[in-house]
Amino acid sequence: MAILSKTLAGQVALVTGANRGIGRQISIDLAAGGAKVILSARSIDSLIPVEQESEGLGGRCERVALNVTDQSVVEAAVQAIVARHGKIDLLVNNAGIGAGSENPWDLPVEEWWAVHEVNVKGPYICTQAVMRHMTRQRAGRIIDVGSMVAAYPNPTASPYAASKAALFRWNSCLAEGAKAFGVSAFVISPGLVATDMTDRPQFADIPADQWVPIEKTGELVVALASGKADVLAGRFIHALDDLDSLVKQADKIVAENLQTLSIQMLHDLF
Ligand code: NDP
Repeated sequence: MAILSKTLAGQVALVTGANRGIGRQISIDLAAGGAKVILSARSIDSLIPVEQESEGLGGRCERVALNVTDQSVVEAAVQAIVARHGKIDLLVNNAGIGAGSENPWDLPVEEWWAVHEVNVKGPYICTQAVMRHMTRQRAGRIIDVGSMVAAYPNPTASPYAASKAALFRWNSCLAEGAKAFGVSAFVISPGLVATDMTDRPQFADIPADQWVPIEKTGELVVALASGKADVLAGRFIHALDDLDSLVKQADKIVAENLQTLSIQMLHDLF
């Protein structure tokens, strides 16, 4: 991708699930954009290739072992980042898992709930840990990697769809509350991207023109990290969206409650 200038120089960014897929791409692009990137994953060794690739592009990274569902590990990691760098500017809640079953009710309860543990509780734990510092800094950005799946029924991937809907609403609550502290939160969708997550039979017949290049998500995260779209905090942004156009139309988006999850009623109740 064409990141021509180090627009993020001086920023400290934490990315979850940075070892592969979309998190890997986001991390490399943030590092190429000048941010100091704290690469996190459950296995610290799995981050070595990402670190090497980022540094090959002139980026600066650190690696940390972090399971997003482990609150004490997350809190200690964030504390250590702030102790080392004096601040944390950006959290990208990227780590996520999927699961599904032929009928939406078939999946064992534990497997259904495990998706929420990673996709909802994980971002909440990470956000709570960084907000302790961002509220003091009165600055920061949090990007949740959501999905369009949040907006539509998906009977064969019900825990995934339900968890991404929960993440979506959580993000909008966060964004509303965080604005007063100078913190901007966004929920984004990468679109359908070829990663391990989508390397499954049910995705095999999807036509080529419906897949989105992974680089689009990296570009979007770098743009959001730059602050150019803070006026859209709390809004949903797709990797294929024209961000500059959205920014120009921010007043309309807010006035008409666009780029968000809402209930479409036939009749006005109030
Ligand atoms: P991958 O399956 O390629 O990667 C998932 C990442 O999440 C891995 O780095 C994995 O680490 C990490 N992870 C899983 N569980 C945990 C955990 N408990 N703690 C820390 N890290 C964990 O998926 P993608 O790159 O495709 O997905 C990344 C994000 O993008 C997800 O949130 C996904 O829902 C979202 N997304 C993806 C789309 C797509 O089409 N691919 C579409 C829309 C949204 P490990 O290697 O340790 O398992």
